[in-house]
Amino acid sequence: MAQKLKKKSTRLTGRIVIPGNPSYNTARMEFNRRFSKFPRVIVFCQRTQDVINAVKWARERGIRLRVRSGRHSYEGFSTVNGGIIIDVSEMNKVKVDRKNRVAIVQTGNPLARVYKKLWNKRVTIPAGTAPDVGVAGLTLGGGIGLLSRKYGLTCDNLKQVKMVVASGRYGAKTIVANRKKHSDLLWASQGGGGGNFGVATEYTFRVRPISSVSIYSITWKWSDLEKVFPAWQRWAPSVTNRLTSTIEVAAKQVGTIVSTGQLLGGAEELRRLIRPLLRTGTPVKVMVKTVPFIEATKFFAESDLNLEPKFKITGAYGFQPLPPEGVRIIRDFLSKAPNRHSNVWSQSLGGTGSAVSRVSPTATTYPHRKAETIYELSARWRNNREQERNIQWVERFRRALRPFVKGDYVNFPDLQIKNWPKAYYGENFGRLKQVKRKYDPHNVFRFAQSIPVGKQVKK
Ligand SMILES: Cc1cc2nc3c(=O)[nH]c(=O)nc-3n(C[C@H](O)[C@H](O)[C@H](O)COP(=O)(O)OP(=O)(O)OC[C@H]3O[C@@H](n4cnc5c(N)ncnc54)[C@H](O)[C@@H]3O)c2cc1C
Repeated sequence: MAQKLKKKSTRLTGRIVIPGNPSYNTARMEFNRRFSKFPRVIVFCQRTQDVINAVKWARERGIRLRVRSGRHSYEGFSTVNGGIIIDVSEMNKVKVDRKNRVAIVQTGNPLARVYKKLWNKRVTIPAGTAPDVGVAGLTLGGGIGLLSRKYGLTCDNLKQVKMVVASGRYGAKTIVANRKKHSDLLWASQGGGGGNFGVATEYTFRVRPISSVSIYSITWKWSDLEKVFPAWQRWAPSVTNRLTSTIEVAAKQVGTIVSTGQLLGGAEELRRLIRPLLRTGTPVKVMVKTVPFIEATKFFAESDLNLEPKFKITGAYGFQPLPPEGVRIIRDFLSKAPNRHSNVWSQSLGGTGSAVSRVSPTATTYPHRKAETIYELSARWRNNREQERNIQWVERFRRALRPFVKGDYVNFPDLQIKNWPKAYYGENFGRLKQVKRKYDPHNVFRFAQSIPVGKQVKK
């Protein structure tokens, strides 16, 4: 439909990168190199006014926009061909008010920087593991990590968000959403997913005092899979909520199973707590130690470094341990993995006293409160000719495991999921659409799996 556009009066401000600039190629890339798009302009915003100008600029010209922080979207939702990327990564201030237990965090911060700045004041937030993941996308979709069972999701600790939203036919403005004002937008920002309502510029988090923690790592041989995976699944949700743990089963050609975890407590207690795992199969390597919390964040970050540049990942939630048939499916797929970079990873979320499960499924937009664990099925590769085989493998694996798992995490988006509104949002989808109609009636913020304004959802 032909659209009458307003006089193009707004100018872009901030650091502007366009095709032909020496930094264009670096500036346009996503973390997942499977996507290689060519935006018309990338604006690195330094102030909120730069964000407002960018939204207005795009609207006045009818140009598609995408919002970007850490660039870690699994499906490349933070980039666009021919449009404008509004990048907040240079808005990265962090201010801690230890007395009132809050931190004001601009949304351009990667997690490593958030952890570091908060650690300087000996506080933290429960957040994810990868150092370069943006606090922006992580929080808006939920945010799971090694403190989740004790302190909840990152979004559960979000008290306030400042967001630039579209206003009128061509404008943009900042609004502040908290429990008192625009509480519906705060709710939608607690698991509703990034890129749906506006550009978040600043978060206010509740922070928790932190000093040292204890961490463990146990390695088994692949032949212990049928013993170790079910044992971890029974154990991980049943231990104290001060302990959150993971398990990663590598492709058969790598031949390892590794479980790691973090306890808010001492090494002696941790050694005692992991006994059921140590008695399972034949552990070939065991590490238990107490470290300053900031060292623990680096330890858990290691598994996300030096990965193959292209990937396809899908997720799922476990509401009970997999039956033997489910474990057999994992064995079968990892026996025929496309290469050594494929794996299955799982993390404990719910169970005994878990702060994630204590929240009602409708209190925030994140509905998967009763899940005991979350899974990721991953394939990674380097050369384009390997791509199709890897993507197909993940999709076949996803389908095979479906009878035993439920729902999907919006921060692990997958374009193959047909009924994604239900999978990501469950019963919260209806209310999310109302929030969308209220704050973005012209559907300025849209992408392949964005919350729709009308009734239609592209499935
Ligand atoms: C290696 C790796 C490790 C990961 N580890 C974890 C983990 O431990 N825990 C966990 O929960 N998740 C994890 N994730 C998933 C991660 O939470 C999501 O990929 C998240 O969306 C990334 O946010 P981002 O800002 O880095 O990405 P981007 O690609 O910049 O953004 C992701 C989405 O949010 C939107 N968005 C970005 N900035 C803003 C903003 N300022 N305002 C509004 N919308 C915005 C984008 O438009 C896009 O739709 C991991 C991902 C990867 C690739």
